[in-house]
Amino acid sequence: MRAEIEGLLRPDLRGRSAYGAPQLDVPVALNTNENSYAVPDVVVDEITTAVRKAASGLNRYPDREFTELRTVLADYLSRTGTPIGVEQVWAGNGSNEVLLHLLQAFGGPGRVALGFTPAYSMHPIITTTTGTTWVDGMRGVGAEGAFDLTVDSAVEQVRAHQPQVVFLCSPNNPTGTALGLDVVEAVHDAAPQALVVVDEAYAEFARPGTPSALTLLQGRPRLVVTRTMSKAFALAGTRLGYLAADADLVDALRLVRMPYHLGTQTQAVALAALAHTELMLDTVDAIKDQRDRIVDELLGMGLSPVPSDANFVLYGHLVDSHATWQALLDRGVLIRDVGIPGYLRVSAGTPEETTAFLRAMAELAPTHRKESAR
Ligand SMILES: *Cc1c(COP(=O)(O)O)cnc(C)c1O
Repeated sequence: MRAEIEGLLRPDLRGRSAYGAPQLDVPVALNTNENSYAVPDVVVDEITTAVRKAASGLNRYPDREFTELRTVLADYLSRTGTPIGVEQVWAGNGSNEVLLHLLQAFGGPGRVALGFTPAYSMHPIITTTTGTTWVDGMRGVGAEGAFDLTVDSAVEQVRAHQPQVVFLCSPNNPTGTALGLDVVEAVHDAAPQALVVVDEAYAEFARPGTPSALTLLQGRPRLVVTRTMSKAFALAGTRLGYLAADADLVDALRLVRMPYHLGTQTQAVALAALAHTELMLDTVDAIKDQRDRIVDELLGMGLSPVPSDANFVLYGHLVDSHATWQALLDRGVLIRDVGIPGYLRVSAGTPEETTAFLRAMAELAPTHRKESAR
C-alpha cells in the first residue's frame, strides 16, 4: 500500500491483509464449500419471472422490512419443529452481513468477542472491523484427531475472558463437526453478560440426530442462530443470510443496518428460490454421500479425515499441507489450505468432481502423507 494511504488508514487496520480465498479458473473448484450443483431450470425460470416483475418497480426503494421474505424464512425454520415467528427473523446480504449487524450493535471498542479456533475465519475479521477486540479461544485435539470443544474447556475460556459476544460454529468450519447442545447451553449460562451466536451455516448437512440450537431459543433472549442460503440452498451468488433470535434483539439490529439494505432483486430471488425449497435442497443427500465417501477413501489412503456434519472434510496427516495443496492445484483441483499445519479442507462436490479430487489425492498420498502411524 502507498505510504500516504497507509498513513490515513485506521491504525488498527494497518498492515492487515484482506480476506481472499483464491478465485481461480480451474476444472475442479472445491475450496469455498459452495454447492456444486447449478440452480435447477424450473427455479431459474421462476427467478427470471420474479425479477422481471420486480424490475419496473426498481425506481422505488425496496421493502425496508422485507416482511414477505422474513415470513417465508420463519416458515422454513419452523419446519425444523421449533416454531419461529416472523418478528424473530432478520436477514442480510449473506450471513456475513448479519454477523456484522450483530457486532455493530453488541460489540464495538472496549468490548470483547471470543471464538474457538480453528473456526470460521470471518468471525475475527468481522469482529475487528467493528473495533471489537477478538480473543482466540482454543479447541482441543481429541482422541480421533477431531478438534473437539468440551463443555469444561468452553466454560473455562468464557469465564477467563468475560466476552460480550461468543461465537460458536456448528457444524464447525473448517473442522466439520457439529457441537453438542450441552456446549451451547453451558456457554450461554457461563456468560450472563454475553450474546451467544451459533453460526449454523451448514445445518442442513448435519448427520441424522444432530440437533439445532434453534431448539434452545425459547427463554434465551441472548442466543442467536445464524443461517445462510449460500451452502445447502445453492444460492451463494445471491448473498442472502439470516438469523433467528429474540424479537427485541432483532429490533436492535434496525439501529445499525443501512436503510433498505436488502435490494428488491435480492428479496425477489430469495423468495423465488424458497418457493421451491424441496427442489433447492434436493442435492443435499447426494452431497452428504460424497462427503462420507471422501472420509472413507481418505482413511483408506492412510490420511486422517475429521468426522463431518457439513459439506466438506478437513483431513490431516500430511507432511507439508501447502505442498499438497499446490500439487493438487497442478492437477486442476483447487481445495483450501486453512492454515492448520498438516491439514487441508476439501468441499464435497458432484461425484465427478469428488472422483477427480480423490484420484489426485490417491496419487499423492504415498509421498505426501506422514510415515508415522495415524
Ligand atoms: C460459508 C459460511 C458462511 C456463509 O456466509 P454468507 O455470507 O452467508 O455467504 C457463514 N458462516 C460460515 C461458518 C461459513 O462457512
